[in-house]
Amino acid sequence: MGKLIVHQEKIQDIDALIKICPFGAMEARDGKIEINSACRLCKLCVKRGNGAFEFVETENLPAVDKSAWRGVAVYVDHVEGKIHPVTYELIGKARELAAKINQPVYAIFLGEDIERTAQEILHYGVDKVFVCDKKELRAFNIENYATAFAAFINKVKPAAILVGATPVGRQLAPRVAAHFRTGLTADCTVLDIRENTDLVQIRPAFGGNIMAEILTPNHRPQMATVRYKIMDAPKRRDEIFGSVEPLEFDSAKFTSKVEVLSVTEKPREIGIENADVLVVAGRGVKKKEDLKLIRELAEILNGDFACTRPLVENGWLEPKRQIGLSGRTVRPKLIITCGVSGSVQFVAGMEHSEKIFAINTDPKASIFKVANFAVVGDLYEIIPKLIEQIAQGRGIA
Ligand SMILES: Cc1cc2nc3c(=O)[nH]c(=O)nc-3n(C[C@H](O)[C@H](O)[C@H](O)COP(=O)(O)OP(=O)(O)OC[C@H]3O[C@@H](n4cnc5c(N)ncnc54)[C@H](O)[C@@H]3O)c2cc1C
Repeated sequence: MGKLIVHQEKIQDIDALIKICPFGAMEARDGKIEINSACRLCKLCVKRGNGAFEFVETENLPAVDKSAWRGVAVYVDHVEGKIHPVTYELIGKARELAAKINQPVYAIFLGEDIERTAQEILHYGVDKVFVCDKKELRAFNIENYATAFAAFINKVKPAAILVGATPVGRQLAPRVAAHFRTGLTADCTVLDIRENTDLVQIRPAFGGNIMAEILTPNHRPQMATVRYKIMDAPKRRDEIFGSVEPLEFDSAKFTSKVEVLSVTEKPREIGIENADVLVVAGRGVKKKEDLKLIRELAEILNGDFACTRPLVENGWLEPKRQIGLSGRTVRPKLIITCGVSGSVQFVAGMEHSEKIFAINTDPKASIFKVANFAVVGDLYEIIPKLIEQIAQGRGIA
């Protein structure tokens, strides 16, 4: 942590300095600059303020011994032993990161009767799966899970831990991070690692206006959550590597007073995340009734339809159809965007789609930077032609 100090004596042009702050966090009062609560400690003023601003660390942290923390660990996300696929995606990324620093990959698997399932994880290239198999971990109980997770960290001391940004991971990771008073970066879209084992956690920040590179240089372990379908899962190999190791743990340490009586599964919803083909409506669609065109194209391609955030805000479609940072992450085989500009917030939710086909009247639209096929033109002319040609090709018309 730290704080911003204003060296009033170094201020020459108050108005010019105030303009530096993109958040309006500086106010002029009696010829002095005051920092208000809008300050996000982005330190832009320190960089551009000609010495008028200084960032001072308020906590004198003892240097962490990074060599004592080794390996990249992945939390095995599961419900009653059924592993969430984000786990394999994170193992793929963990392998890549661990190879860069020449350290092992671990998995931490908490539950009951999970020994056999733990073997499955070894097909994905993990060096060691630490299994804590206890009746107290039968159902997800946040307190018991956090206790066992902490025991794993104390025993193994991994340099970095990746957790899926699932309903389970989003509850568990912050609790564990707080216990170790370490950093946690949520919803990372890119991860890298430095030679000194500092994890480079990249995610959109400040409303998606920048891609922030976040480091946890003074604490270990480093923790990050990643949404499903952001990273690539490695292929399952027939042979197994590594081993399963029990995580010895005294059950008396489970002190939770919560007893999970039963778990009721929610009816499974087929959402836009499951579609192989998605047709997306953006603000280029002028009226709610015109969504008919988007639906028609989706239907003829046996796909589903989705939208950008403004359409949800207009009340035209339900939030569960929104793609993006504050919506869903999708990775279909084909995505056709219609009248979508390609804001960072939207692209963050679909850039890993296999093929991106974009229709936009503006040749400079950002969506074309990520598109595999770019069609510059009016969606009202192009979509009917597409539908007609697909129908002809299929012998429907
Ligand atoms: C914190 C935060 C989170 C956000 N999260 C999300 C999110 O999850 N998802 C999301 O989508 N947005 C999100 N946004 C909003 C985002 O910044 C953009 O405003 C939004 O994505 C723009 O949607 P759009 O592309 O449909 O509209 P616009 O940006 O208005 O683009 C419309 C495009 O349509 C084109 N066009 C117009 N007429 C036609 C036509 N007849 N034929 C073809 N093309 C045409 C135009 O050239 C233009 O490029 C978020 C914003 C913030 C601040």
